[in-house]
This record gives sequence, structure tokens and C-alpha cells, in this order.
Amino acid sequence: MGDCIFCKIIQGEIPATKVYEDEKVLAFMDINPLNDGHTLIVPKRHAETIFEIDPQDLIATIKVAQKLAIAIKKALDSDGMIVVQLNNKAAGQMVPHLHIHLIPRWENDGLQI
Ligand code: ADP
Repeated sequence: MGDCIFCKIIQGEIPATKVYEDEKVLAFMDINPLNDGHTLIVPKRHAETIFEIDPQDLIATIKVAQKLAIAIKKALDSDGMIVVQLNNKAAGQMVPHLHIHLIPRWENDGLQI
């Protein structure tokens, strides 16, 4: 947790383009976006994966994900949205602080995931 990059963003120790914040949750733009509007939503209290996160923190995080998915789809006029969350290295998780990806999609945007 001490050198968790997302904890550092939450503490304001490293910069991020924040798009939403409340008592329990922070959302910011992905530094290496897979598509326009690629956004990450994180619980402020450190938890590595879905396996150990406090259920109330998870509920708060997914509620923000829904709110932002609706807002981003409308703002960017996307045709769809990938909502994805990876757990552990074997599943492709690179940053060990639970995060939900919102990745807007457009018909024929050519994105290969
Ligand atoms: P993957 O990289 O396979 O998608 P994750 O689900 O762990 O694995 O995603 C980590 C995400 O965090 C990546 O999309 C990456 O671009 C993003 N990221 C890493 N460092 C930062 C940062 N400092 N600010 C914003 N996004 C970051």
C-alpha cells in the first residue's frame, strides 16, 4: 500500500486528471487510454482486488462507475461502453489497487482488445 500508485493519486502525491471525487471514491483519466474518455474509478480505501474489498466500498465504487458511464456516453456520444475490472496478475491486473475501467466504444472505432 505504501508505494501504491493509485493511493498516491488519492493522496495528491502524484498528479492525475480527476473527473469525480467523493468521500469514498475517486475517478480519473487513464494515463494510457485505450480509447477517448478511458476513465478509471477507484475506492479511496486501499484494496487490491474484488476478493478482499469491503462490500460497502465496492458498492460505492460501482455506483460511481454507473453514474460516470452514463455521463461519459452522453458527453462523448459513444455507441457503447466497456466496463471491466481485472483481479490479480493472472487476469492481467497491473496496478494492485482495485479499479474499474470505463472504455467508451464507437461503431467501427477499430479498437482491438
Ligand atoms: P492493464 O494495464 O492490463 O489494463 P490494470 O487493469 O491493472 O491492467 O490497469 C491499470 C491501468 O492503470 C492501465 O490502463 C494504465 O494505463 C493505468 N495507469 C497506470 N498508471 C497510471 C497513472 N499514474 N495515472 C492514470 N492511469 C494510470
